[in-house]
Amino acid sequence: MMKKIKRTALVVGAGPGGSTAAYYLAKLGVDVLFVDKETWPRDKICGGVYVPALYPMLKEMGCYDEMMKYQACSITDFRLIDRDEDYVDMKTEPAMIATRRFTDDQIRRAAIRMGADFMENYEATSLIMRKGVVKGVHGLYHNTEMDIEADVTIIANGSHSELTRQLGLFPDPSDLTVYAFRAYVDGVEGLAPNMAEEYYVPKGLKGWSPICTTWLNPHYGGKQAVLGLTINEDALRDSGLSAMEFYEFWRDNTKFGQERLKNATLIDKFRGWRLPGCRQLGKSVVPGAIAIGDAVGASECAFDYGIPSAMTGGMIAANVIAGCAAKDDFSYDELNAYQKMAEEALNPSLGFNALFRDELLNKEDVMKDFFKFVKAQPGYPNVMFGDTAAKYMMEVLKLDLGGNKSNQ
Ligand SMILES: Cc1cc2nc3c(=O)[nH]c(=O)nc-3n(C[C@H](O)[C@H](O)[C@H](O)COP(=O)(O)OP(=O)(O)OC[C@H]3O[C@@H](n4cnc5c(N)ncnc54)[C@H](O)[C@@H]3O)c2cc1C
Repeated sequence: MMKKIKRTALVVGAGPGGSTAAYYLAKLGVDVLFVDKETWPRDKICGGVYVPALYPMLKEMGCYDEMMKYQACSITDFRLIDRDEDYVDMKTEPAMIATRRFTDDQIRRAAIRMGADFMENYEATSLIMRKGVVKGVHGLYHNTEMDIEADVTIIANGSHSELTRQLGLFPDPSDLTVYAFRAYVDGVEGLAPNMAEEYYVPKGLKGWSPICTTWLNPHYGGKQAVLGLTINEDALRDSGLSAMEFYEFWRDNTKFGQERLKNATLIDKFRGWRLPGCRQLGKSVVPGAIAIGDAVGASECAFDYGIPSAMTGGMIAANVIAGCAAKDDFSYDELNAYQKMAEEALNPSLGFNALFRDELLNKEDVMKDFFKFVKAQPGYPNVMFGDTAAKYMMEVLKLDLGGNKSNQ
């Protein structure tokens, strides 16, 4: 016989978004079960950069010290390299780099410590819908059918979410969607231990649009690194190349590729993930459910950072749901308070990244002019990325940044 469970709040996905939601729900006294299809700890294809804006939340959850202790490195410097392999260096607030196998597990454990119930190996396969309201999920637990019913469901199952697709919440803007690949490499040459390098489309590749980046983040003193490759979906289709061919082209035909990787070996396989980004947070609430993080494409579209949106979204969703639980009112109007609160919290950095991408990174001449501007700043290269980029966009490009600002 099929098993059934009924809870107040169900969170699908125990990535940073889902585990953060579960943590705060438990902290606020809401009965919560969070589930994940994987056996934990699990890996996630990611660069593993945690921007400092996340530190207060990590501290509150009791994860910060452990993550700092075992982080692979701290990034304080950032090099942008253009299509001609000219580059500019800037500073960022120190960002933590750590493997997602480790960090996601820390956040998941924090939620369990706080009192959230967790079930691994549970794969949600579709939503339980009644009269247009989400009432939980149908799923498989160790390949046996099991339904979980809930007053409210947080959908946090990442960028392959079939649940947000079912609801029409999954955005698919091909100009903002990248194929993102990652491998760990050993024997990298010349990469400073505290510097992330980000390379844009190398010259010589026909048909590639901007926002094809290759990046290296150093681990353990710079010899080992996270090697990433993000390629715009349209560009990948136009090029006729595979992602691996793009990587090999970059490695064999660019100065930086040759220099950094001439003696390097891949520690693990290059593995990829389709990642939609956005310029502003899209519709995230339907009757009975709130969707957060990659499940609604909430990644920043210039640097593909998505952990901040996922965790902040999780925290806000938990607060809204705790308010609903206190009134025993899980109506759409009550849940929809999430939309405005999340937009206020997330849109400034999503918007900043979108402007930076659309008006600067995507325009070869503008990017060159930006490099000149940065190098002319007093104290260069000790200039902060966020402030300098904002200054350039306002003073030179005459853009109205409104409330948009960098979180780096
Ligand atoms: C190559 C690459 C590099 C990146 N680098 C960075 C970076 O350096 N910094 C940064 O901030 N962001 C980065 N990102 C983005 C970041 O990884 C995501 O935005 C972030 O993981 C989103 O968190 P999430 O909780 O929404 O989803 P996820 O982390 O994807 O977690 C979703 C969870 O749901 C589970 N799940 C999926 N389907 C189901 C189901 N049907 N039933 C039950 N469970 C399910 C999965 O097992 C997973 O544990 C990168 C992304 C890529 C692809």
